[in-house]
Amino acid sequence: MKIITLTKELENTLQDYKNQGKTIGFVPTMGALHAGHMSLIQMAKKQCDVVVSSVFVNPTQFNNSDDLKLYPRTPESDAVLLAENGCDIAFFPTVVEMYPPDYKKITVDLAGLADVLEGKFRPGHFDGVVEVVGRFFELVNPTKAYFGLKDFQQVAVIRHMVKSLALPLEVVAIETMRENSGLAMSSRNMRLNSQEKERALHIYATLLHAKELAKTLTPRQVQEKSIDFFHQSEMKLEYLEVVDPINLKPLNDKWYPNTVLCIACFCGPVRLIDNMVIN
Ligand code: AMP
Repeated sequence: MKIITLTKELENTLQDYKNQGKTIGFVPTMGALHAGHMSLIQMAKKQCDVVVSSVFVNPTQFNNSDDLKLYPRTPESDAVLLAENGCDIAFFPTVVEMYPPDYKKITVDLAGLADVLEGKFRPGHFDGVVEVVGRFFELVNPTKAYFGLKDFQQVAVIRHMVKSLALPLEVVAIETMRENSGLAMSSRNMRLNSQEKERALHIYATLLHAKELAKTLTPRQVQEKSIDFFHQSEMKLEYLEVVDPINLKPLNDKWYPNTVLCIACFCGPVRLIDNMVIN
């Protein structure tokens, strides 16, 4: 595996592969890598000739400076995991390398997708996501790009962005990888102590409970009862919403195929998100 930190070197290396007609699979990450990230790498490896993964904690998508400061960083073990899982190029850029003074920021009208759920609680977050992913797409020019459904809204935003800008690439969405306990794998789990990790299991329990309720109740009723169920734990709820999977608007009386329940909460000081298709 080649480790690259400079954009020029990345572009030159990829140009060689492209001249040979190879397909490029791209997996953007913020590092502190785990098996969830590796499921994206493995799918990219299966579907593409060359796998590129970036490890970059993007400051422009953090609306909270403490969250940015405390975000786990484990570059050495990230490089080992990427190499072991068949990544060909690991890109570890600096902020200046990503955003030089003369680069042009991509902006996209997100048609309301960024104003709900995460966007409501993390203002500006998806502008930062669009900025960094747009910049990566410009640098890597991938054939396919891989994103986890763990960040359900992010997948919706990226799909919308690719469509609006008519970018010549395919977005591939990958199911959420969970611990045996049901807890969704996340880099942020590293910040949970053992008691908090135990407490966080109630998120998965809430999702399963909602799925059961969805068999007989309306979306609005499922939301209300799931919020009550969630409050049996000591975690602080930010939102729990039952939404249309395409436009992310809350549903009231009518179910749509693949309706998703999205949840965000604080477990101690750590903000966690999760979601599940409930009908
Ligand atoms: P992050 O490093 O958190 O920005 O995540 C990088 C990519 O990995 C994103 O597309 C995430 O949605 C995805 N990802 C994170 N956690 C998981 C998981 N538990 N299962 C599958 N994909 C994940």
